[in-house]
Amino acid sequence: METEQLEFFKKRLRDLETELETGLKGAGGQSATVSLDESIGRLSRADALHSQQIGIALEANIKSRLANVRMALGAIDDGTYGVCRHCRKAIAEPRLKTMPETPSCVNCSGRR
Ligand SMILES: [Zn+2]
Repeated sequence: METEQLEFFKKRLRDLETELETGLKGAGGQSATVSLDESIGRLSRADALHSQQIGIALEANIKSRLANVRMALGAIDDGTYGVCRHCRKAIAEPRLKTMPETPSCVNCSGRR
């Protein structure tokens, strides 16, 4: 991949990393709202637990994307960015533009 393109994706990935980190703080805050404080009553506690579950799912999702973003940034430094981790073929550029953090090509991610 051209240096120019790599710089472009590097910037995209850095932005995405910042964005996800911010999102993670938000999600973390949400799951942290449920202390097992009995004083909030049964119903609101159920609500709180529900939003905690959403928060946890959201957090897990953000964390796995963040891990991919960091891997992709590492791959840029290694010179392996844009190569599918499974079949070692080049990942199509439109796919990288939509999901710069993707570790696999469309064929391999569809197969999983
Ligand atoms: Zn592949």
